[in-house]
Amino acid sequence: MRAGSTIVKPSYIEIDGSQGEGGGQILRSSLALSLCTGKPFRLTRLRAKRNKPGLLRQHLTAVNAAAEIGSAQVEGNALGSAELTFEPGRVAGGSYRFAVGTAGSATLVLQSVLPALMRADDPSELTLEGGTHNPFAPPFDFLDRAFLPLINRLGPKVEAELVRPGFFPAGGGKFVVRVEPAATFEHLELMERGEILSRRAVARVSNLRRKIARRELEAVAGMLSWDESALHCEEITGGIGPGNVLTLELASEHVTEIFTGFGLRNVTAERVAHGAVNELRSYLASGAPVGPYLADQLLVPLALGAGGRFRTGSPTSHTLTNIEIVKAFLDVEVDVHRQEGGPWTLEVRGGER
Ligand code: AMP
Repeated sequence: MRAGSTIVKPSYIEIDGSQGEGGGQILRSSLALSLCTGKPFRLTRLRAKRNKPGLLRQHLTAVNAAAEIGSAQVEGNALGSAELTFEPGRVAGGSYRFAVGTAGSATLVLQSVLPALMRADDPSELTLEGGTHNPFAPPFDFLDRAFLPLINRLGPKVEAELVRPGFFPAGGGKFVVRVEPAATFEHLELMERGEILSRRAVARVSNLRRKIARRELEAVAGMLSWDESALHCEEITGGIGPGNVLTLELASEHVTEIFTGFGLRNVTAERVAHGAVNELRSYLASGAPVGPYLADQLLVPLALGAGGRFRTGSPTSHTLTNIEIVKAFLDVEVDVHRQEGGPWTLEVRGGER
């Protein structure tokens, strides 16, 4: 440095981690948007509205993963930390392995690095390890069947392959994601669901009795009157620890949605089925193509590209909070309005960047 010159510190985007939903999504969206825009950020009161605030293992893995793909300078990347500064460098595609090290969700780790890798100069292959079917996180099947097909309509080609599932609390899951980037993302228009083309219920058990899966499927068939041919029971071998997940898949002309019931100790198979069926019913009742989880997860990719428009049910606090995070990094307009008595429309208007 020349004598007398001063180091110019980058100006950080200030994010309050206690705003709105106050959870991990604020962190993951900030990481993704920072990597894509090159803008550094400072996040305080991290996950302030959660029972165990600060960085848990899954969030720390996400921070370190984002730092690795984007050669970032980071402060505060320690377990329990409630404050983080993140200054990204150049994002490089390539071959990466990110392991949560606990049963924490590995699909959530993916959320923080995928958008940047979808725009990188080179393709990537990611190996992610940890939980693959966690409550309060996108299960692998949702990622594979609902989210990624929409991402692929934007231009990048992203495919995911499950190597083995991992359930809470044992973890041990693994999946691989291959990313062919695109320089720009297309506009996405998803205003109608179209005809329902197929229905499928899959009940999986790992190191648990098959009867649990059977009971879940019987309950689904009873509540939804689905044909026997739509019901599938799978016993997973080689999984670490016990696990049970019920996946309801509704493939429509323009979109596929996934509703999940997570088996938990002291929760009956019938209750697991009930939870998933209720989600599916409220999706159908909304009359909209996009369910509540897809709605919040589509915001970042749409805002990074040529924008988009979709119909959804009443916006969740995850969606509303994510809109604020997107606006903190990008000069985009997000319009949320409701048709009288009908579904909501969420429109993201931004320039192609
Ligand atoms: P947070 O609670 O802030 O850690 O964010 C949780 C994320 O997981 C959000 O993006 C949700 O949309 C997503 N998520 C939670 N439950 C599900 C589910 N059952 N299916 C798909 N995505 C989910």
